[in-house]
Amino acid sequence: MIGKYEGDATVPSSDVLLKLAETFGVRVEFFFRQRDARLTGVEYRKASRLGRKTLDRIEGNVREQVERFLSLEDYLPARPITPFALPETLPPAISTLGDIEDLVLGLREGWGLGNDPIPVVTDMLEERGMLVVQCPAGPEDKFDGLAAEVDGIPVIVVGRDWPGDRQRFTLAHEFGHVVLRGRLADGLDEEAAANRFAGAFLAPAPEVIKELGPRRTRLEPRELCVLKQTYGLSMGAWLFRARDVGVLDQPSYVAAVKQFRIKGWHRREPCEPYPPERPQLFEQMVFHALAEDYITESKAAELFGLPLMDFVALRNMEPTDAVVDQ
Ligand SMILES: [Zn+2]
Repeated sequence: MIGKYEGDATVPSSDVLLKLAETFGVRVEFFFRQRDARLTGVEYRKASRLGRKTLDRIEGNVREQVERFLSLEDYLPARPITPFALPETLPPAISTLGDIEDLVLGLREGWGLGNDPIPVVTDMLEERGMLVVQCPAGPEDKFDGLAAEVDGIPVIVVGRDWPGDRQRFTLAHEFGHVVLRGRLADGLDEEAAANRFAGAFLAPAPEVIKELGPRRTRLEPRELCVLKQTYGLSMGAWLFRARDVGVLDQPSYVAAVKQFRIKGWHRREPCEPYPPERPQLFEQMVFHALAEDYITESKAAELFGLPLMDFVALRNMEPTDAVVDQ
């Protein structure tokens, strides 16, 4: 009979399917999912300047991580995260970059985020039904991130080896692509729009004005440094925000950028780097599933890509060299 199912000669009835699911400890959805997590709608524009090889390597790594996540989900009795949905109150059309400021305020309000700094962007995205994947890439690969979809779930990919403020901007930028898709008027540059979204999302206009004041002639580097640590947004991005929100006029902004270039701060900012983001949802779900006996220890080890012994040591909080493969 199983041979017939596998050969598409016949399909199991729903009763049989339920029993199979019960026997193998998976949810019925398991049988309907395309087992290879195909990434669709990948935003390649920025990625296209990467070599084909680098892009393939990154895509392979992302697919593998997404597959592990989806296969873990199959063992849980219920979906652990709410499905992704944007607030319905968002404006359907964006005709200028400035319109993005209000869209962001509406989004933050609709999701109950207020206007405060977002402590961990990854957590925020994961809690709202998106998958966040870190892949081994950083400045030397020229890869910062991309947005894609798997089975209708938005997947946001970010390079693991970037500083935290850069990762946060990338996550917000890619999230911007997800939110803005289908809303931008003809002629609006999608990259510029995603950048504006990212800045506005990490530091909403009212906060920028509250922090800097409505009108300024210049900003002190130390001010920008403090704000970088508070909002996880680079000093350079703060200059952008000050201009976009109208705190600095264009000549003052140009003068500030010139100073940054003279000092080499556009390459390396003078204050402490912001700590990198670390996704936690997957690890948390594995241990949850293990504690409740939804999965075995060897399945958990497999999901982490670890030898069983290393996994057991990790589980028992014993000293080990093993690092969770993410
Ligand atoms: Zn982009």
